[in-house]
Amino acid sequence: MDREHHDVLVVGGGPAGLSAATVAARHGLDVALVEERVTLGGQVHKQPGPGIVVRDPAAMGREYREGRALIDAAEASGATIMTSTAVVAVEGDAVVLVPDGGRARTVRARRLVLAPGAHDRPVAFPGWTLPGVLTAGGMQTIVKAQRVLPGRRVVFAGAGPLALAFPAQLLGYGAGIRTVLEAGPPPRIGDLLRIAGAAPGNRHLLQDAVRYRAALLRERVPLRYRRIVVRAEGDGRVEQVTHAAVDADWRPIAGSEEREPADVLCLGYGFVPSIELLRLAGCDFDFDEQLGGYVVRRDDWLRTSRPHVLAAGDGTGVEGSVVAVAEGRIAGLGAALDLGAIDAATAEREAAPARRLRGRRQALTRALRRMHDVGPGVFELTTPETTVCRCESVTAARLAETIDGTRDINVVKALTRAGMGPCQGRSCQRQVAAMIARRHRQPLGAVELATPRMPVRPVPIGALADDAVTGRTLFMRQDGDADVPAGELADE
Ligand SMILES: Cc1cc2nc3c(=O)[nH]c(=O)nc-3n(C[C@H](O)[C@H](O)[C@H](O)COP(=O)(O)OP(=O)(O)OC[C@H]3O[C@@H](n4cnc5c(N)ncnc54)[C@H](O)[C@@H]3O)c2cc1C
Repeated sequence: MDREHHDVLVVGGGPAGLSAATVAARHGLDVALVEERVTLGGQVHKQPGPGIVVRDPAAMGREYREGRALIDAAEASGATIMTSTAVVAVEGDAVVLVPDGGRARTVRARRLVLAPGAHDRPVAFPGWTLPGVLTAGGMQTIVKAQRVLPGRRVVFAGAGPLALAFPAQLLGYGAGIRTVLEAGPPPRIGDLLRIAGAAPGNRHLLQDAVRYRAALLRERVPLRYRRIVVRAEGDGRVEQVTHAAVDADWRPIAGSEEREPADVLCLGYGFVPSIELLRLAGCDFDFDEQLGGYVVRRDDWLRTSRPHVLAAGDGTGVEGSVVAVAEGRIAGLGAALDLGAIDAATAEREAAPARRLRGRRQALTRALRRMHDVGPGVFELTTPETTVCRCESVTAARLAETIDGTRDINVVKALTRAGMGPCQGRSCQRQVAAMIARRHRQPLGAVELATPRMPVRPVPIGALADDAVTGRTLFMRQDGDADVPAGELADE
């Protein structure tokens, strides 16, 4: 029998999830929030890890302080907060939770708010698996949560707002940035006019952008537009990076290669929404590469095509933390409205500021679109020997041979094991989909992703071999002459 039941269960302790939980709990609902990391705050408001004491919050910067305010509000709202707990499955109105080191359990809720955020858009090229090649998210975790600089000579290769923001932040932490490579074009007069038109309500973001650009200029870090990293080399770790000029589709131009020494290559080609739970829930999707690829379809209250599932933040299309907070509020109000905790007029009145904020931020995203459009060339940088699925060591050649015979990504997965490892395709699936699209002349958005399977996070089998999830007899072990449920043996 299920022991736990809530009005609203929120997945994700980033700005979207924290805001949704706070708003729903303040309206008197029984709310639980689940976060797999040890601390709340999500990606942008990542808090220092356990054991690190913050003596001077003012010195920690705006992102830390804004995150702290969101966390304090959620903690004061009365919502039950579970950290170090991963949601590994969604089925109907139930989710399966696995606390770190504990057993899986099923929790039911009348409304689910999924706010799982995004992860780095993976880009494969020769040498991308060398130690010292880090994604922006990975590097951010090391720097923000652990306060460690992984190297001194950093080359940053990426695109979009992150290609400006992240190197500037790293400079602030004392990293030596040699070069910033931006795959997109430099701004034109038309872009600047569009940005100026979208400035009302986005002043802070634009000021930040100016500040980041000024930091690069001050430290004499070259920002080179329309260049992409094509190779990383080194003896046991990255020592040298090769980059090349690209055309409008981000395809390298022959003869434009340059080499650069580096001990860290940081990759920031934008983010893709974490859609595993939304797919398990059976929600409908659209495709928009600029928002990160597959984006869940939602109504004005951020209900998905599954009416009891609402979705907010970067996990629904990557639009940044301001939109994440606004969407969290709207989803929290949507859940409160659906469950009768507030009437429609109250919901509309309270949602109005968040809707305005979201609308303004989305206007800025549209204004930046020409500069930030992702070129298909970014998925074409592998050679036959390049490892594409690093969990299962599957090369581009092995995949190409299989893709010659099928356009079905599930078949490619079954025949090559690409996407079957611990990351469950988060690193390789987009690359494989792009290979299928190219080989079979399909738009990328027309390639169906592999069927999602629980658990969406790697968890020990002992955590799942629990009768609440699997039934007592599914995982049995021999103990002398008797068959014993594996979970009971694990207890001994
Ligand atoms: C790698 C990365 C770096 C970024 N860097 C910046 C930056 O420097 N500056 C900036 O302005 N913006 C940055 N962004 C964008 C910004 O982080 C987001 O816009 C904002 O944090 C989105 O908020 P969110 O709540 O939607 O998602 P997040 O902040 O990502 O929060 C989602 C939370 O859900 C949790 N979660 C996911 N799946 C599960 C699960 N199955 N079970 C339990 N918990 C789960 C995650 O651990 C995470 O804490 C970055 C985004 C990413 C992905």
